[in-house]
This record gives sequence, structure tokens and C-alpha cells, in this order.
Amino acid sequence: MSVKSEKAMLKELNPEQREAALYFDGPLLILAGAGSGKTRVLTYRVALLVASRGVDPARILAITFTNKAAEEMRGRIYRLVGPRAGSIWVSTFHSACSRILRREAERLGYRKGFVIYDDDDQLRMINRIIKDMEIDTKRYPPRLVRSLINDAKNEMIDADSYRDRIEDELTEVVSGVYKAYQAQLFRNNAMDFDDLLLNTVAVFELYGPVLEHYQERFSHINVDEYQDTNLAQYRLVKLLSAGHRNLCVVGDDDQGIYSWRGADLRNILEFEKDYPESRVVRLERNYRSTRVILEAANNVVSHIPGRKEKRLWTEREEGEPIRYFFANSGSDETAYVALEVSRLLEGGEYGQRDFAVFYRTNAQSRPFEEILLRFGIPYKIVGGFKFYERKEVKDALAYLKFLLNPDDTVSLRRIINEPKRGIGETTLAHLDAFARSQGVGMWEALQRTGEVPNLGSAACRKLAGFVEIINGLSAEVERLPLPELLQAVLDRSGYLEALEREGTFEAEGRAENLQELKNAVVEFSASNPGEGLDAFLERVSLVAEIDLYDEEEGAVTLMTLHNAKGLEFPVVFIVGMEDGIFPHMRCMGSAESMEEERRLFYVGVTRAKDRLYLSGAAYRSQYGSLKMSPESRFIRDIPRKYMEFVKQEGPATIEVSGERVGLGEPGVLAAAFQVGDSVVHDKFGEGVVTALSRSRSGPEITINFPAFGEKLLLLEYAPIRKK
Ligand code: ATP
Ligand code: MG
Repeated sequence: MSVKSEKAMLKELNPEQREAALYFDGPLLILAGAGSGKTRVLTYRVALLVASRGVDPARILAITFTNKAAEEMRGRIYRLVGPRAGSIWVSTFHSACSRILRREAERLGYRKGFVIYDDDDQLRMINRIIKDMEIDTKRYPPRLVRSLINDAKNEMIDADSYRDRIEDELTEVVSGVYKAYQAQLFRNNAMDFDDLLLNTVAVFELYGPVLEHYQERFSHINVDEYQDTNLAQYRLVKLLSAGHRNLCVVGDDDQGIYSWRGADLRNILEFEKDYPESRVVRLERNYRSTRVILEAANNVVSHIPGRKEKRLWTEREEGEPIRYFFANSGSDETAYVALEVSRLLEGGEYGQRDFAVFYRTNAQSRPFEEILLRFGIPYKIVGGFKFYERKEVKDALAYLKFLLNPDDTVSLRRIINEPKRGIGETTLAHLDAFARSQGVGMWEALQRTGEVPNLGSAACRKLAGFVEIINGLSAEVERLPLPELLQAVLDRSGYLEALEREGTFEAEGRAENLQELKNAVVEFSASNPGEGLDAFLERVSLVAEIDLYDEEEGAVTLMTLHNAKGLEFPVVFIVGMEDGIFPHMRCMGSAESMEEERRLFYVGVTRAKDRLYLSGAAYRSQYGSLKMSPESRFIRDIPRKYMEFVKQEGPATIEVSGERVGLGEPGVLAAAFQVGDSVVHDKFGEGVVTALSRSRSGPEITINFPAFGEKLLLLEYAPIRKK
């Protein structure tokens, strides 16, 4: 294991970066633009604290925005200082808080082993509360209520204070649900993501000695992406660093993109007010992007009124122009992206992992997934469809959660009839009513089914069967290693057997996903020896969307612009550049949210190292009808001299209420195939293109399949790809 000497480390930083990395005592603000090495400085600074200053690694706290970023930073620090890196806390705010609360939550009345509810659990619970309260879900949709509760939590307004703010029927409803929701979370010994932050602040504010302990423990605190901290995070940092004031925050006010989740730019802009003695370092050299990309980015932010002026420069080459394609139709846009990816891959300069496609909302990913599949280009999607959101994975985790915490009624409800055991809603309603009348939890009610009114003997038998399964598994929790415990859950619950019985293709896929979950458990156990079920579940609950992205694997990355923060890719496509999509329709009403959209565009542009593509489409089919949009106003933020305008080849292949219009020349996709090309069809196998034509239904392709003869297929729908 080679570790770097201080001298070697310092050589890898420029003079301003070096100054920041070596400024160990007192508050330090690094306010600088994208790609200027902020994250790099933070990483080296932590390494230098250990290697040169001799600070005990256990006393360093480094906060990143995502678990993925934490993992990367941990790896880099390890390469700089070796195994000592192991005891540094490098984590997100949420992970750090949950680690603290594991030890301290009992002070707030929680019991040991609290569980963390994710967005989905949260929605399920709010749904149930709304139903119980007989609130009209059409007027007050659960998602809306949830988002208002989350807004309140982001502003640190608890359920009691929210009551004082009731101003109309909606806030009255929210207030009632909020109160019931918190009470139920507490009864279930559960916390949602916001509670992790709020409860940590609460412990610190209520218990002086506890706060002092952690102030003493963390002698150096470092926070990346500080511009996106919310009020609770701001308070936490302030409380923890109040004693020694060795606080280093880094960020870029031009990249604040989470105000909709309560992030407040003032935290970074007013840092100097909070810490008058602070040192401020600015970094102006960008190491990431070509000159064209950087100049374009500079122009984008210069359109935001009232910002702190900073101008980035680079020594990199001028580079390729930004390619901009405003297609006639959405399918032409997707085809263009896929064709460019193939062309560059064929050129050999880039590998699959060098490409990223960014869009404004998750729902935009599907057509890009489809076209990449057709071109046979591997892709991975970050967010949108997450492994840990799959039903079978959540079911298995619910069993584990419930074994750990029998007060967790959300998990209990999820598993009691999963797989199907004939335990219906009516049985559950009787059980629920009984539990309430006795003031006990569901699990206890299950032990006393004999006393539950209106419960038939068949229902009692089924419930007893379930209780027996759980009791049997509970006995194993301490005894079995994690992977075996998971296997026992899947076997004895009858879950795997039910999937096998179902025997469908889909059920097979579900079983495979459970196998993948087992892989995750095995990996976790191997890298965290001595850690138990609670640590595993905690890790799983905290896996943010971005964590499934694996840099080692060769695949094009598809993700939202928000998820792209902090990352970099050689080739970037920003798609859906249309007014109404990006900037998003919802944001076009107010000047403030338009500024945030523009910052989001800046974040997207500055992810690109070598090549940047922007694209949009004049027509798209949306919910079965045709929608026309003008090009995004953001395109006009970029001087034309940096852009190359790509021309549409042939008219659009667009769809109007199921009918295709625009006959004549083939569109972009048709242009991808030529007579003589070898192709592979999902069903017919290999074949050769013998003709390209067009009918009222759109472009067609004729392929000669040796095994099946000549077939005339509609290009848009044929599951074919080039060989
Ligand atoms: P963002 O605002 O997007 O988070 P950042 O300011 O955190 O960007 P980094 O990700 O730390 O920037 O750095 C951008 C790229 O430049 C990285 O690939 C990094 O390794 C490289 N880089 C930064 N400083 C130097 C340097 N002094 N010498 C060589 N490469 C550098
Ligand atoms: Mg960074």
C-alpha cells in the first residue's frame, strides 16, 4: 500500500487550492465555480489533516451530498493516507445523523433499533391516515399532503407549530394528518428522512452534554455542496462546530438547485456574516471542460441577475463546438442521440461509460432506453427505477425490518398476506379495531386472536400460521449470519415457493432480484464484519437514487439533471431542450424558480469534459395527442459561435392520434439503416436489409431472414438492431 507524502499531495494542487487545503484552523469558505477542484481540495485537506497535522482520523467529519460521492471520497482519501482513512466519518448528512441517533435516540423516547421509512413507506402511511380520517382524497391527494408536510419539516416547523399556521381548509387538513403521522411514526419506532436531521438537532439542543461530546469528538468539520444545505443541516453544522470553529464549507452559489427541498442559498452567501473571522478562498481555474464548453457555461450563468460574478478559465484546448439538434419529432431526437453515441463508439476514442444523457424529469427516460436497447448499446438508469424500490425487494426487506422491530406496523401490514395466505382486509380491520380498543400494537393483537371479536376460526388459524413463521424466524435473528437469515426468510415465509408456483417470466425475474438482494447482503457482510441486521437495513434505507451507478461497468448513464450534480463525463447529452420541459412548465411562472432552472442548466453543461450535445423536438406525442413546443429559451443563452446547428434529415416521423404524418423521405431513424446492412431481430434472428420504403403508417424496412424469408416491418416498432 503506497500512501502519498505531503509533498506529493501538495504538488497535485494549484497555489489557491493548496492554501485552502492547508488552512486547518478556523472557519474556511471555498466559493468557486464548477470543475475548479472544490471536491478535490476537500479530499486533500482531509488527507493532509491526518498526514501532516497528525489529527486523529476519528475526529474528522466530511459531509458529501450523496452516498455515491461519499464512497468516491473515501476511496480517494484511502489512496492518499492508507488504512487510517477507515475511521474518518465520510458520509451524507442523513447517514451521519442516523449513526448519531443509533446511540442517542432513546433520549427522545424512541426504543432501540428504530427503523427508517423511505418515501414509499411515508406515502403508504399518509394514505392510510387520510383514509382513516375519512378525508376526501380527490380534494386532498395524499401526495400533495405529503409534500406540504415535507415542506414544513424542511422549515423545521413541527406538527404543533403547524397548527398555529392554519389559514384555510387545506392547511387544516394537513395539520391533522401531520400530527397523526408523527404520532404513528413514533408508535412504530420509525423515522422518516427529515426526522433523522430534526431529531439530531433536537438531541443537541436539549442535551448540552451530548452536544459537547460530539463537539469534542469532531475537531474538524468539512462540508461539500454547501449551497444545497437546508435549515436543519445548517443548524447541525453550526451546533457541531460552535466550540472549535474548525469548519470548512465548499460550494458554488451558481449550482444551488434544491430550493424545492428547502435548500437555502443564504447559508453559503452569508457564511462570512456567521463567521466574521473566516478565510475565503476562490478558485477560478477549471480543470474539467474544454474552452468552448466553459465559455458556454459562463454565458449561461451570466444571465442570472444579481449573482456574485465569477469567471472561470481553463488551459484546456478550445475543443469541439456544442452540437445542437432541434428535431422535428421526439423519435427523431432519440434516434439522433443513439446514432451519435454509436458513431463515437465506433471511432474508438470513447467507451460506453464515457456517455451520459441528462433529462429534466425521470419520465423522459423511457424512449431513450428503448432506442439504446434497439441499438444494442448498454445503458444504466440512475433513479426512476431503483433496485430497492422493486416490490419483491421491498417485501423481503419488510420481513427483515419487522423481525428487528415488532412495533413496525407498516412492514407488518406489507408482509402479513405476502405471499398470499388468505388474510384479507376484513380480518385486518377486526384486528386493527381490537388493537386500538386495547391500546396495543398489531403484533400484540396477533398473539391474542382468541379475544378479537368477529374473527372466525379459519381467520384465527391463518393468523396463527403467520405468527408461527415470524416466531420461528425471530429465533434465528441472533443465530444466523445475515445471508442465511435472508434465505430463511425467503424459504419459510413461502415467498420463493409462491414465485416458483406462479412460474411466469415475471416471477422468474422477481426471484432473480431476490438473488441479487442476497448478493448485496453477502457483499455487505464481507465488507462490514461484525455488523448486524440493523446496520444492513440502515445502509439500505439510505441508499440514495444515485447509488446504483457503478463506474466500473461499461454503460451509457441516463439520469436527471439533479442527480448529475458533482459528477463529470467526457460526452454529455442534455435532451428535451424545449420550453415547458426544460425550463419546466411549473417553474416558468416565477422569476426565482426560473433562476433555479437556469442554474440547473449550468450544472448540466458543466458536467461535460469534451463534448456537449443539446437537443429538443418540435413535436412530441403526449398522452396520445400531439404537442408542439418552441425550443428552450436556454439555447439563446449560448452564443452561436460556440454552436454547430445539426440539420434534420428528411421530415418528421410523427404520430397524430395514432396516425403517422409526414410522408416522403425517411426520418432520422430510417437514415440509420441502409440496404445491405446486417441486422438482428428479436424473434426472427439475423437478416439483411433488402429495401427501405414508406407507407401511410410510416417508414418501413424489408429484411431477408434466412430462417423466415423476407419480411416487411414498420421501422418504428420492429425490434431490430444493427449487427
Ligand atoms: P463541481 O462544482 O462540479 O462539484 P468541483 O469544483 O468539485 O466541481 P472537482 O470535481 O474537484 O471540481 O474537480 C474537477 C476535475 O478537475 C476533476 O477531474 C479533478 O480531478 C480535476 N482537478 C482539479 N484540480 C486539479 C489540479 N490542480 N490538477 C489536476 N486536475 C485537477
Ligand atoms: Mg464537487
